[in-house]
Amino acid sequence: MKFYRFLEKDLADKNIRLSEFYDSADAVEKRILEEYGALFVARGGAIPPDRIIFKNEREVVRFQKSVSITKANIGGYELELQAAAMKNLLKSVAEAEENDLTITPRGADSARRSYAQTVELWASRVVPALEHWTKKEMLSEKDAENICSLAPFEQVPVILKLEEKGVFFSKDLSKSIIYSVAPPGTSQHLSLLAFDVAEYKNENVREILASNGWFQTVVSDLPHFTYLGAKEKDLPDLGLKKGENCGQVFWIPNI
Ligand SMILES: [Zn+2]
Repeated sequence: MKFYRFLEKDLADKNIRLSEFYDSADAVEKRILEEYGALFVARGGAIPPDRIIFKNEREVVRFQKSVSITKANIGGYELELQAAAMKNLLKSVAEAEENDLTITPRGADSARRSYAQTVELWASRVVPALEHWTKKEMLSEKDAENICSLAPFEQVPVILKLEEKGVFFSKDLSKSIIYSVAPPGTSQHLSLLAFDVAEYKNENVREILASNGWFQTVVSDLPHFTYLGAKEKDLPDLGLKKGENCGQVFWIPNI
């Protein structure tokens, strides 16, 4: 099934109109759905956010308070996820152990994140890129200052526009910032349905996670797994299609 058709049907089931959820004229929302949209098919006890972009900390806190959260210690880190996501992650961890494997987080921020953390990550790409491009005279000092003075989320459309002209903001400045870091308020970690896995290169680890509803869904982000709460064979009916990167399988919106 095509992703937008699925979304429309799914939102109708939840009494939400597609036009309220998604503005097709908004280039940023469209881009976010294309890159990170698999999250919105999450089920099996998982609750996807009711908006594509959280505009501020208040909206994130309200969502995080509305869902059931479980805390657990994995690999020495205290982590928090939506209850269904954590239950199936712990099941994966146990299954891995039975097979002499481990599933551990990449770091302390591998699961739950706050809006402030996503803003900080975003700035860690934007600030050095602005410096670089002003030095290269691809951007005036004044333009750079203007971008800095915008609210984090207001920076997104301006930066995506600059990237159309080859002024890229990823860490290595060679591609879109979207492939490097999620714009403020769009990270799947805010929804408590994402987990960054240290052992993502191990095929057996990926299989165990997939059998428990955890899939790779962001092609540019190999260690990042999303809890979709569905069986792999059912994902095409949920508007997703298979993608591939570095020999690994990703489930991405079928757009
Ligand atoms: Zn991640």
